[in-house]
Amino acid sequence: MIILKNMTILITLLTSLFLTTGCTQKKTVDARATPDLRETTELSAQKIKVFSAEKNGYILVEKVHKTDEEWKKQLEPLSFEVTRKAGTERAGTGKYENNHEKGIYSCICCGNDLFTSETKFESGTGWPSFWQPIAKENVTTNSDHELGYERTEVLCARCGAHLGHVFDDGPKPTGLRYCMNSVALNFQKNNN
Ligand SMILES: [Zn+2]
Repeated sequence: MIILKNMTILITLLTSLFLTTGCTQKKTVDARATPDLRETTELSAQKIKVFSAEKNGYILVEKVHKTDEEWKKQLEPLSFEVTRKAGTERAGTGKYENNHEKGIYSCICCGNDLFTSETKFESGTGWPSFWQPIAKENVTTNSDHELGYERTEVLCARCGAHLGHVFDDGPKPTGLRYCMNSVALNFQKNNN
């Protein structure tokens, strides 16, 4: 009787083990059978929420990853040097320092909206300066010790482009100065 009981327990255990394994295998097969679904899941993991001036609201966009070779094909040499290699354009040489048109400044690399002309001010530094990004989600920051002291680097949240630096000597209401490189930006004038 005891042997029979043990056998029953063993069979029950084996059955449940088989069912569990069966389930796991089925899931794997299902995932393999639907590559599109898996791809969608992977892409959605790389999506970020950013503000779109055109939509006047937040949108989900895919992050942009490219190799240096791909960026070189797309960008002018100076834009590549600044955005992908954290370079700086010479003060006073950028095309947007004295731009007073109304419109939107977006990332030269990926088109992510970054600043509006409403927050641009005369900093006298030789670089286009803003006291606030279009939305905090559209940029990221990073500590930078390149010059031997700490500075806060500003990057595009969508593609990681180096845009410039942010300092705390800006005007009201934020007191911030986003010191940007013209070659990292693309300006689109408002139509209205
Ligand atoms: Zn970008």
